[in-house]
Amino acid sequence: MPTSEWPPQEKMQFQLALRRRGVSDLAVLRAMEDVPRELFVAAGDRADAYRDVALPIDCGQTISQPSVVAYMTEQLQSKPFHRVLEIGTGSGYQAAVLSHLAGDVVTVERFRLLAERARERLARLGCRNVEVVLADGCSIPDELGHFDRILVTAALPDIPEALVARLQPDGVLVAPVGPQSGPQALVRLRKTKDGVDRAELIEVRFVPALSGIAREI
Ligand code: SAH
Repeated sequence: MPTSEWPPQEKMQFQLALRRRGVSDLAVLRAMEDVPRELFVAAGDRADAYRDVALPIDCGQTISQPSVVAYMTEQLQSKPFHRVLEIGTGSGYQAAVLSHLAGDVVTVERFRLLAERARERLARLGCRNVEVVLADGCSIPDELGHFDRILVTAALPDIPEALVARLQPDGVLVAPVGPQSGPQALVRLRKTKDGVDRAELIEVRFVPALSGIAREI
């Protein structure tokens, strides 16, 4: 994967911002260092690519704030032998970060345009272990199978049982849960042999998960 040619000073500030927000997992920090965020934002926003802010992308969606991406990735605890599902591909940035940490990543998006652009970017960066699928994350196609980790990057009113059923034993799911208008709570579920452990982590603001494939584009 090509390393970004961005000014080292700005990338150093970027890493410091992630650490200040409490992210300490070195593998996660390295993945954040290696993924060139400037390639995932609109051309007009490139100068802001390494600021710790969410930015608008196509189809009225957003690429999340880097410290939230890093925090969610850290909470997911994905390992090189894991199969990971992301719901809400958006720009493909979070999927690119996960591709450095997991074995295989399947990411689903309901907008065709976003899915196509993300697929192109990820291919250009050489993220060969990521598959971008145009699908409704609210009803994951059966053929996608089961996952060790599930990361949802759009806000859900609650976590559907059907999604928890897609987790392998000992699997972890991280999702923003709450009202569409936000704020939402970031929730982490772990599937145990006796049921499900649930923890509420931090407050976040995500665009809502909407059901169905988008008809517009
Ligand atoms: N992870 C993205 C940002 C997520 S923005 C990134 O790194 O850039 C949330 C995304 O979730 C949007 O692109 C939105 O279209 C998508 N989304 C919302 N509901 C969805 C659903 N039911 N299935 C699949 N994608 C969905």
